[in-house]
Amino acid sequence: MSWFIRKEKGINTPTEMKREAPDGLWYQCPNCKKIMQTREHKMNAYTCEHCNYHEKVGSEAYFEILFDHNKFTELDASLTSADPLNFKDTKAYPDRIRSTMEKTGLKDAVRTGYGRMNDLEIVIACMDFNFIGGSMGSVVGEKIARAIDHALKNRQPFLMISRSGGARMMEAGFSLMQMAKTSAKLALLSEAGIPYISLLTDPTTGGVTASYAMLGDFNISEPEALIGFAGPRVIRETIGKDLPKGFQSAEFVLEHGFLDFIVDRKDLKDKLTSLLKMIQ
Ligand SMILES: [Zn+2]
Repeated sequence: MSWFIRKEKGINTPTEMKREAPDGLWYQCPNCKKIMQTREHKMNAYTCEHCNYHEKVGSEAYFEILFDHNKFTELDASLTSADPLNFKDTKAYPDRIRSTMEKTGLKDAVRTGYGRMNDLEIVIACMDFNFIGGSMGSVVGEKIARAIDHALKNRQPFLMISRSGGARMMEAGFSLMQMAKTSAKLALLSEAGIPYISLLTDPTTGGVTASYAMLGDFNISEPEALIGFAGPRVIRETIGKDLPKGFQSAEFVLEHGFLDFIVDRKDLKDKLTSLLKMIQ
């Protein structure tokens, strides 16, 4: 039984021979259920290495993916929402805003900034779904409008990354006005001949789809993103017909001419750069 007995005492592996312990954090893909290291998942631009599922990520991740060395200057970082309607659902709107801020560390559902992407100057606005469903209220509209102003003034291309449930109910009509405001600003950008690219991610719906998300010189999307205006149930009941398979998926929307192309997040930075170089 000598093979069974430890002859040498103590553990003899020198420190430099020890394998670096993993982060201790593992990521399980919600689509294929396979497990990978969080670090690898991050290096893969938060896509699954097995099934290519694109995890829903927010502005922090997109800025890190797109801006060179994650260096950028944030615009209007402290803009926060007012409560013009004294709105109350299960919670008063200011309380909802406050608790969402604490939970997410965000000020509202979009962050905007400028920096360099593969050395090309660019202004990027990116929505955060974690903040009340990425809903578009006055702050979202205003920040996007100001980011477009920055793009206009400095003649830099503008990239909008949308992920939204639509207009913010708690601001009712004020939310809807943001559609007109952002669209008018984008028209100025277009007149000035400055490129605007709209990236639609999962999901992009409601008033966001009906305004800035579909107004790009190029409207592009991540694979399998849900893109629509109203939900499928509402449409089915309205038109009284069954909907085709894959309805409202990015692939379906592309086939029907509403998108220019679908881009894998791992290729996003390089594809955007070559596209902008081509059209500038
Ligand atoms: Zn997967």
